[in-house]
Amino acid sequence: MAIESSEVEKAAALIKDCKEVLVVAHEYPDGDAVGSMMGISLMLEKAGKKVHCSWPEPIESPGRYCFLPGWHMFVMPAEIPDVQLVIAVDCSSIERIKGIKRWLGKDIKIINIDHHPDNTFFGHVNLVNPGASAVAEILYLGAGGLGLDLGEEAALCLYVGILTDTGRFQFSNTSDTTLRVASEMVGMGVDPNLVYQNVYQSDSLQYLRLCGHVLSNAVFEEDLGLIHGSVTREEMKHWNVSMDEMEDLIDYLRALKGHRIAALFKELESGRTRVSLRSKSELDVGKIARLLGGGGHRAAAAYTSEKNRIDEALAELRREIAEVGRNPGG
Ligand code: 5GP
Ligand code: MN
Repeated sequence: MAIESSEVEKAAALIKDCKEVLVVAHEYPDGDAVGSMMGISLMLEKAGKKVHCSWPEPIESPGRYCFLPGWHMFVMPAEIPDVQLVIAVDCSSIERIKGIKRWLGKDIKIINIDHHPDNTFFGHVNLVNPGASAVAEILYLGAGGLGLDLGEEAALCLYVGILTDTGRFQFSNTSDTTLRVASEMVGMGVDPNLVYQNVYQSDSLQYLRLCGHVLSNAVFEEDLGLIHGSVTREEMKHWNVSMDEMEDLIDYLRALKGHRIAALFKELESGRTRVSLRSKSELDVGKIARLLGGGGHRAAAAYTSEKNRIDEALAELRREIAEVGRNPGG
């Protein structure tokens, strides 16, 4: 599904008419959320706008994304000034940015730029293309239509968005367009090795030890085809590892041959449990996550369970997998 040109024109007009803009990514932002947020922020700044960017609390150090340009535009949620225009990136619904409350309900316009199939079209203007591998791909291809100019710095940020959302160009969302866009970005000066060193080769020894622990304790339930692992607050504290550092931990679980679903449970400070899901089968984990209050794509989704014990969250997940497995089309 392509983005309608009338929506692009409306977005371009909103951007043209504003002096100051806030770009927001979703809570616990991943590489596409951070890369797209920074990429469009840099382009807006280049167009002469005053730009702020942020995401909902908790705010952790951007870790592996520290090397991206543009952090001078980042503001803590509590310090967001009044703006006329908000651009949301990689957010399937307004719920994903509910922590950014200050501007809600005021006289502002929202441009919603996303690629999730379950996007709720919550913006005044919606640039949503579920066929795009990443929001970064939409931004790269759409920059001209929005009246924005890509530069090498924005291309670097957008490259990171595509790289991470496609699992380094290996997930099923990797298309010929994705690879062409990435190739053009490299042509513009993006250095794939520099990105690789920062994004995938900067783990701490403590994090590697935590991964070893999680993998040693992972369980494969053959009847459901489910491999699962977990990280408790205590383990995070013991190894001094942040949520943000664990972004790719689930990829180790999904390397298992013959599984259908991989799940990673992370205990949150709030006592609830954050659950990441990945599917290697016909099972739509986006649907499972939506049933449990979250969302995402067919093959990658997540939700926050109200269960504060991992074994209870696991039991809840098992029930939904069995249910959705019985009635995959329903
Ligand atoms: P992750 O497991 O990496 O946190 O998330 C996997 C995918 O699910 C991402 O594409 C992300 O955008 C989406 N996702 C994660 N958490 C939520 C959530 O709470 N609500 C919705 N709607 N989507 C989510
Ligand atoms: Mn994304």
